[in-house]
Amino acid sequence: MRIVEMFSLSGKKAFVTGAAQGIGQMAALTLAEAGADVAVVDRNQERLKDTVRAIEAVGRRALGINCDVTDPREVDRMIEQILDEFGTVDIAFNNAGICHNEAAEKITFEDWKRVIDINLTGVFLTAQAAGRVMLKNRKGSVINMASMSGHIVNAPQPQSSYNASKAGVLQLTKSLAVEWAPFGVRVNSLSPGYIGTEMTRAAVQWIPTWEASTPMKRMGMPTELMPALVYLACDASSYTTGSDVVVDGGFTCL
Ligand code: NDP
Repeated sequence: MRIVEMFSLSGKKAFVTGAAQGIGQMAALTLAEAGADVAVVDRNQERLKDTVRAIEAVGRRALGINCDVTDPREVDRMIEQILDEFGTVDIAFNNAGICHNEAAEKITFEDWKRVIDINLTGVFLTAQAAGRVMLKNRKGSVINMASMSGHIVNAPQPQSSYNASKAGVLQLTKSLAVEWAPFGVRVNSLSPGYIGTEMTRAAVQWIPTWEASTPMKRMGMPTELMPALVYLACDASSYTTGSDVVVDGGFTCL
């Protein structure tokens, strides 16, 4: 197969969670530009309309699905809707996530649980739903959204729940990769550094510190994650499983 064909997602069916904005929205559009039909998932369907329109504008099929990834029944319904509309799932990007900045000695049980439920359990539930389809098909690519925060401890913001959830995603990814490798299903993760989205704009006071502590002296843009995402999604990465791709401007080298 020629290299250009390896990177094509033509004919593939994908879903992206947390696709109403930020990295997820850019990912959905990028997978569509690479040739996939894409189901876009978020907990507010109204906010998915722009993503759906953008995918349709590049000539691919789009499906907007309202789903809270922490609720197993909603995740079951999500996968049923995708199967009804697209017939199968080849690519799952389990991206939905939140951040909560609070000192470990002060965070409430509810706030701790909310972060772990969305960032780790939500990734597991949507990976599991996709994996059940892919295992039957004997093929598929699951990509879990981790973070450099799964490798290092960010400063100065206190975010133990976020860091723990992302470290969990890294080990979950390797576990699923080993379990599903014999059946043709690959599972990898993506670990961005600081990226300009609503999530980081909500903590604008720390941006100068983050930029100063990044070797490239700037934050990244969602577009700069997309080539790595397409690589993990497509046939070019046919021997890559259980890997974490770090895209962080050099942050984790220090
Ligand atoms: P955004 O906050 O911009 O987007 C996240 C999206 O996920 C929102 O639309 C959000 O909806 C949705 N979401 C949150 N909880 C749920 C849920 N329970 N069910 C369905 N959808 C949900 O974040 P980013 O685009 O910046 O981040 C995307 C992912 O990338 C996250 O997992 C994040 O941890 C990770 N990441 C981000 C980095 C960054 O610097 N931005 C760095 C490293 C990793 P709502 O608005 O309703 O919450």
